[in-house]
Formats: sequence, structure tokens, C-alpha cells
Amino acid sequence: MKLSKEKLRKMNFDDTVDPQEPGDYDEEDCCGICGNKFENLKISRNAKEQLYKYECANCGAIFVTPENSAKTERVLLQGEARNWPEYLLETLKFPFNANIIESNDREFFDPDYDGPSLYDTVKVLEVFYSMKYGVEALVRKSRRTYQQILCFMEAADYDTRNYDELENYKRWREKYWLSDFLVALVEARKEAKKEARKEAKEAKLKQEK
Ligand SMILES: [Zn+2]
Repeated sequence: MKLSKEKLRKMNFDDTVDPQEPGDYDEEDCCGICGNKFENLKISRNAKEQLYKYECANCGAIFVTPENSAKTERVLLQGEARNWPEYLLETLKFPFNANIIESNDREFFDPDYDGPSLYDTVKVLEVFYSMKYGVEALVRKSRRTYQQILCFMEAADYDTRNYDELENYKRWREKYWLSDFLVALVEARKEAKKEARKEAKEAKLKQEK
């Protein structure tokens, strides 16, 4: 976007916004900070500059996107990226019961696997950062504890803040999460390519001598 944050902050967003119907936005679209449902965001508009402003009452985030642009182009005017493992550890009330709603690979490929599987109810004891999966949970099933990918679960009690926080996290993850593992992998590949180019160059120089 060409406009600076300063200019966007001073701009008026008081033109009429057409009511948003489901189908006008992606199912998985949500607040880029907290995962609040898109339909819960307050939308205002500057028709002349063709900009939309979104405000999230849940986390206080404010961001601006150009009309008719890919939804990924956005300027954050207020709020900062959330450290999810830390946030969830502080916000969720432990322990709580959760249902496993997705199967993990081990269930299929490891014949000796006896951990939580699809439709099991487990007790979530805590959550922690995971390079590969974002956030994992320590859960208890029967008398043993296991690690489980957090987004494979939903809080068993629908009527709790835990349930809402977990659903928001999953919505956000679906849309915005980038695995640190993949980032590291991509970086390592770039580094390896650079190294290979350097070696090829050196080999060529040697030949020329
Ligand atoms: Zn939000």
C-alpha cells in the first residue's frame, strides 16, 4: 500500500459499507491477530481511496486493506502479533477436557500407538511452543500423559471461554500460521544453494588458472 500508517490513521472512514453477506468473504477469514470471526469485525470505508478499515473488539486490532485486493495486503494500525503459546498458557483455564477431532499420523502408521485417537476425550494439562506444529498440548488419557497437536482438539464444554479461545486460535492458525519448521527448512535450502553456487564458482576459477 502506498499510504503511510500516519496518513491512514488520519484518514476518515465514514462512507457507507454494503452489508457483508457470507460469501463476500472467505470462510476462514478472521482477525489477523486474535482469530475473531470476520463477521464480528467492525468495517468502515473510505470510498475515494478505496480502502476498508477493520476493527476487532476482541483484541483491539485495527487494520486497513485496499478494496478488491488479495486479503493478504493489509496494514496494521493497532495491535501486534500474538505469541500464541504464551497467550494460551496464560488465558486457558487448566486442566480442561477436550475432544480429539482429527487423527494424527501415528494413529495410522504406528501399530503400537496407544495414545489419544479420534473422538477420545482427554484432559489438557498445559500447552507449549512447538517448532513443527505451533502449539502442542500435554494431555492425559487414562493414567498416562501424551503430547498432542492443539489444533486437533476442541474444548469439550462449548459454553466456556476455553472453547472460544481455542476456536479463535484454530481459525487464526488455519489462515495465518507459518510453521517455524518450514521457515527454517526454506532458510537452510537457500543457504545450501548459496554454498553450492560459491563452490561452483571457486571450482571454475581453479580450472581457469
Ligand atoms: Zn482480534
